[in-house]
Amino acid sequence: MTSAVDAPTTFDLGPARALSCRECGHQVPLAAEFACAECFGPLEVSYEFGPITRASIEAGPKSIWRYRDLLPVPSDVDTHPNTQPGLTRLVRADRLGKALGIRDLWVKDDTGNPTHSFKDRVVAVALAAARQLGFKVLACPSTGNLANAVAAAAARAGWESVVLIPSSLERAKVLTTAVYDGALIAVDGNYDDVNRLATELASEHEDWAFVNVNVRPYYAEGSKTLGYEVAEQLGWRLPGQVVVPVASGSQLTKVDKGFRELGELGLVEPTPYRVFGAQATGCSPVATAFKDGQDVVRPVKPNTIARSLAIGAPADGPYVLDTVRRTGGAVEDVTDEEVVAAIRLLAKTEGIFAETAGGVTVATVKKLVESGKLDPDAETVLLITGDGLKTLDAIQDHVGPRATVPPSAAAVRAALDEPGR
Ligand SMILES: *Cc1c(COP(=O)(O)O)cnc(C)c1O
Ligand SMILES: [Zn+2]
Repeated sequence: MTSAVDAPTTFDLGPARALSCRECGHQVPLAAEFACAECFGPLEVSYEFGPITRASIEAGPKSIWRYRDLLPVPSDVDTHPNTQPGLTRLVRADRLGKALGIRDLWVKDDTGNPTHSFKDRVVAVALAAARQLGFKVLACPSTGNLANAVAAAAARAGWESVVLIPSSLERAKVLTTAVYDGALIAVDGNYDDVNRLATELASEHEDWAFVNVNVRPYYAEGSKTLGYEVAEQLGWRLPGQVVVPVASGSQLTKVDKGFRELGELGLVEPTPYRVFGAQATGCSPVATAFKDGQDVVRPVKPNTIARSLAIGAPADGPYVLDTVRRTGGAVEDVTDEEVVAAIRLLAKTEGIFAETAGGVTVATVKKLVESGKLDPDAETVLLITGDGLKTLDAIQDHVGPRATVPPSAAAVRAALDEPGR
């Protein structure tokens, strides 16, 4: 199983040169492969970058494609129909910072992407690579946000899509996927069951690009753009600390890879930074391994409202541990109650409504500050990766109108507890 049936044998994937095994370094030519033939380790894209300057990036499109020369995509990537994700806002979060006791806090607000989560980034890169590799169908197993992103990206590109989700998924995420009219299949099982199914189907359907399975090495690179954007938006600097939610763990490792590449290419001063991971206690295999000092991540059965992070057997778990330990960070986990409180705290302090994954990140920051693991004086960026409109279930029993009144000013004044006139 290498590439789509009628694909050419050399591919224009921009600066990408090969796939190399993260475990043994074995290299293979660019293709739709994800596991090393020598040791079954995960394959990762390696590059030969051309000359890149801050100015050449700044002159690029107002989307992730401004970083196309750092991604496994052809240089004319933006001429093909795509969702143009990225370049979401990085906002100062002084009021949230005050509430959390952090002096210098920023929120990277990825709810502003086309389907309202950071998954549009990874899917756009996967689609661009899959197109070059000769695929015609975009597919995925998903915990929700990926389903949205794949269905929308395929619709925009005029591709077919096949999306597999656990049948227990939030209603909003089901509907906001189904509306794009690809093939959406709800599976009675959890994400790890759905993922196993996808791996089986990927080997049967050589013309289906499962973004996070057989083209995963390309997909994963899309998360580097979060690192690039944070650095560019800070004025071409690296922050002192970054806090990232962890599902499979891919995003966290790639934000780090993005930061490192910018340093190596001389686009930023390679200043030290610490990477922190955030999980929900009901699905915290990586946090548990971190706290126990283990290198192996033992799978768990997820039970949390943070469904977008509910991956019990995270593929990149060990690499999250490596990254966090190398940079002097930590992985922490928080309860569902803390997640809801944090969603509300972010909303009321900054006017940003995050989904449960964002609640996990904010609550984790709070816990890390309280335990002294996060330096309250270092410049800190937290990644808000998804939109609260998709997880209304999480807050529906906690917020609502203060009162329901008849259409009279007196009744409104009474509800606001104002004296009558
Ligand atoms: C998928 C997802 C993540 C985590 O992504 P991984 O790369 O699998 O760790 C974080 N936040 C949201 C909202 C997601 O949908
Ligand atoms: Zn290997």
